[in-house]
Amino acid sequence: MTDQSSPGRGRTLPARRLLLVHAHPDDETINNGATMAAYAARGVHVTLVTCTLGEEGEVIPPGLARLTEDRDGALGPHRAGELAAATAELGVHDQRFLGGRGRYRDSGMAGTPPAGHPRAFCRAEPDEAAAHLVGVVREIRPQVLVTYDPDGGYGHPDHIQAHRVALRAAELAADPAYRPDLGAAHTVRKIYWNCLPRSVAEERLAALRSGPPLPFPAVATPGDLSGVVDDELVTTVVDTGEEGLRRKAAALRAHATQVAVADGGGSGATGTPGGAAVADGTEFAFALSNGLAQPILATEYYRLVRGPAAPGRPAGPETDLFAGIAGAGETGEPGEPEEPGEPGVLGVLGEPRESGATGESGENEASATPPGGLAGADGPDGPDRGAGAGAARGTGGPGTPGEAR
Ligand SMILES: [Zn+2]
Repeated sequence: MTDQSSPGRGRTLPARRLLLVHAHPDDETINNGATMAAYAARGVHVTLVTCTLGEEGEVIPPGLARLTEDRDGALGPHRAGELAAATAELGVHDQRFLGGRGRYRDSGMAGTPPAGHPRAFCRAEPDEAAAHLVGVVREIRPQVLVTYDPDGGYGHPDHIQAHRVALRAAELAADPAYRPDLGAAHTVRKIYWNCLPRSVAEERLAALRSGPPLPFPAVATPGDLSGVVDDELVTTVVDTGEEGLRRKAAALRAHATQVAVADGGGSGATGTPGGAAVADGTEFAFALSNGLAQPILATEYYRLVRGPAAPGRPAGPETDLFAGIAGAGETGEPGEPEEPGEPGVLGVLGEPRESGATGESGENEASATPPGGLAGADGPDGPDRGAGAGAARGTGGPGTPGEAR
């Protein structure tokens, strides 16, 4: 595998490259920790761009409350350290702050004084902020971009801004006339928004409610979680199994100022094989500063809003973010001339990957077309697959692909 530890121009990167754009330290782990760990473990170059230091976060441990006394001088740098520890747990070695560390500041919730700070990320001119990301896109040349939906998952102004900036950067990076000084134009082939199927949120939260006592005051409701959508909007299900769950939980623990993790009384990542079964129980739960318990999921969910859907799948959602990309997807097509593909692909950590995905190419370059190739699911075949299978009908809804910008 190519060295991933020293990103920079003039270096040969792995054939598959994944870029994630997040607002604050901890968002990457909460939304995509299992996915990042799974792809990194399979040799994918995973780049995380974090837009702020999270200076306005609420600090949970009383012993660390002093950090809030100087949010720019203490909490921000402390959270950057937590982020470094978290990405190390995930096996991700290419993390950057948008525009450099401290360029943009956590805006806090809408209407609060931090949103008026001169460096508040929500106040940034999107094109100016996007220019920083264009440089990263043209350097790394990722096939896949993951970020939030237009609502930022739950309406936080920095998350909404991260969405805007990420989509704008993808557009600008592909335009050869835009800032040639930032590198050669590059088109990101697939763009995903984070999401969580409503049925999964309901099932998992119900499991927490009916399980053994948790060290949190209450269990969240679906409305408390980020990115909850109707099942039919979900196009992609990434199941990472026990290893993904273990790494995600470890990374959550690294965000100690923001996240409290329960581990089921020390029993750890035990249970039946496959992350779904483990996550179905109460082995792992976490809470943010609101004290509301949420499940830690080994399976993460996405909405494909640009690019080719998984080719040739008989039914159900795609299971690989790189599916349908020549040389990078799970069909093992011949590689593109300039970047030979690896025959192996991410399947499920700790389980043999699915075989039998056959392949027509399904190529549909940057067409902003709904993933119509996913149709045909008969129905759920398990508690975790169910949402994804039901999601196979997805074609649009709020924020349809055409408005992905
Ligand atoms: Zn956030």
